[in-house]
Amino acid sequence: MDALLQDIVRQCRPYGALGKVANYIPELSKADPDKLGLCLIDSEGSMHCAGDWQDYFTMQSVIKTLILLLALMDSGIGRVRSLVGVEATGKPFDTFNYSDQALTGANINPMVNTGAIALCTLIHGETYGEKFRRLLELTRYLSGDDTLEVDEAVYRSEKATGNKNRALAYMLKAYGMVSDDADEILECYFRACSIKANCAALARIALVFAHHGRDVTTGEQRFAPIYARYVNATLMTCGMYDGSGEFALRGGFPAKSGVGGGIMGVVPGRMGIGVFAPALDKKGNSLAGVNALELLSEALELSVF
Ligand code: GLU
Repeated sequence: MDALLQDIVRQCRPYGALGKVANYIPELSKADPDKLGLCLIDSEGSMHCAGDWQDYFTMQSVIKTLILLLALMDSGIGRVRSLVGVEATGKPFDTFNYSDQALTGANINPMVNTGAIALCTLIHGETYGEKFRRLLELTRYLSGDDTLEVDEAVYRSEKATGNKNRALAYMLKAYGMVSDDADEILECYFRACSIKANCAALARIALVFAHHGRDVTTGEQRFAPIYARYVNATLMTCGMYDGSGEFALRGGFPAKSGVGGGIMGVVPGRMGIGVFAPALDKKGNSLAGVNALELLSEALELSVF
C-alpha cells in the first residue's frame, strides 16, 4: 500500500505546474504548487501516507462538512433542511447570481458559501465566538489532533478581502433567511475556513464519516449514524463544487475540497482519505489531488457505483 501511494504521488506531482494556487485570498497565493500529500486510514485503523502529508494547510471549504454536521447535531435535520437544500447548484461556490430565481433555502446547499454561512446560525452558542470554539473543538475531536488552530494570517487575509462573502451574508439577511448580525456570522465563517489541518487529520475525520459516525479505532460512536448519511449524501452530490458530477465518475465516493488545496474523501465502510495539493483546476478543486484520488480509486476499486 505504501508503495502504491508513493507511486501515485510521484505520478501526480507534475499536475501542480498545470493548476493555479488560489490568489483571491492573498495569503493563499504563497502556497507551493509542487506540494502533494496523501494519507489514508482503513477500517482496521491502519494509516498509510506519502509525500507532504504532514504539511498543514487551511481547511477552507472542507470545514463546511463539519459546519453542516454541527448544525445537524445542534439543531436537527428539520431545521437544517428548512434553511438550506441538498441539490447541486450548478454554480460556483461563491456565486451571487441568484437573479434567475429568488434566493430560497431550496436553491442553496451546505457546500456553497451561502449555505455554509447560513448554517453557522444553527450552531449553538451564546455568541459567534462560542459557536466557532465549539466547531474547532469538534474538528479537534474528530481528527484526534488537539493542535489544530486558526491560521491567523490566512484569517486576516480572508477577512480583509472577503467582500463577496460579505455580500452573500447580507443577501441572506435581505431575503430574511438569517436574522443575526451578518458581520458576526461572517466572523465565525472566516475563522472556520482558516482552521489548519493536514492530510492525516482529514483522513481521520473522513474515517468517522465512512463508518456511520463511529470511530473504528476506539469503537466510540461520535455522532448519530443518520447525520453521517446526511453529510455523505451531500458531499457526493455537492462536495466538489460544480465538478461534483465529474468527481462521481472519476473518484466515485463522497468528497469535499477546499481552495487551500485539501480534499477529504469518505469511502463508505472502507476508509478515510486526506489529500493536499494547492494548485487548483478551473472549478477550484485540487488538480493533483483529484488525479491522485482517481488513481487510488482505480487501484483499490473505491467507487461506490
Ligand atoms: N474561505 C473560502 C471562501 O469563502 C472558502 C472557499 C472554498 O474553499 O471553496 O471564499
